[in-house]
Amino acid sequence: MRKPFLAGNWKMYKTVGEALDLVRRLNISVGQMRDREVLVCPPFTALKSVSQILTDSQIRLGAQNMHYEKEGAFTGDISAAMLVDVGVEYVILGHSERRHVFGESDTLISKKVPAAISANLKPILCIGEKIEERQAGQTQSVVLRQLEQGLSAVPKDHAAHVTIAYEPVWAIGTGHTATPRQAQEVHALIRGALQKKFGSTAETIRILYGGSVKPDNIDSLMAERDIDGALVGGASLTPESFSRIVRYANAGS
Ligand code: PEP
Repeated sequence: MRKPFLAGNWKMYKTVGEALDLVRRLNISVGQMRDREVLVCPPFTALKSVSQILTDSQIRLGAQNMHYEKEGAFTGDISAAMLVDVGVEYVILGHSERRHVFGESDTLISKKVPAAISANLKPILCIGEKIEERQAGQTQSVVLRQLEQGLSAVPKDHAAHVTIAYEPVWAIGTGHTATPRQAQEVHALIRGALQKKFGSTAETIRILYGGSVKPDNIDSLMAERDIDGALVGGASLTPESFSRIVRYANAGS
């Protein structure tokens, strides 16, 4: 079975002191939960300090981006090995802000995903359509293209290391969440495409939903069959709201 996965993307928020304060509080409230995976993705500057706090915790550490080359003249960038060196386990790749604010292409992202896996990082590949693409009926083709290209250099025996995050761009940071049904529809499409590509391994790949996830909508999203967790931006910045999201109410219980 797929373990539920609740991930917080802190984006460009939190100084080191603020990050430590947040992670200490999260550690108290959700740091020993073993029936779900909890991930925090602080900015680069806070990774090492946060990693030190998490040594005896079940909370995992992730980064928000990386370069695909091992090292080199890439001013302002960071390598997979540098992230591993400070205790990072996961890395978010292809986030919509990287795609649409910084112009990252499917081709670039397709190099990062296998580079992360080769360095022993677990990539979280983000995909999702813009509002005009949804309105033009292109959701399926956009999502499938980003998925196929992002995973184009991932062999079947490495597929289990990958997590997918479906994040419709129109839902990120806007307060407009996809309805559980809208999200499930796309998650089922993604699951089908993963099955075609990777066979039975697809059943082990977690597909997260992201886009204005809050304490008051997490329960209904998590009740959907193919929604295995959430990638949370704004609501991961306070211990109260992220802890509540992590402790979502299971529809079956
Ligand atoms: C995100 O940053 O991936 C995200 C989904 O942000 P928010 O939860 O704020 O919409």
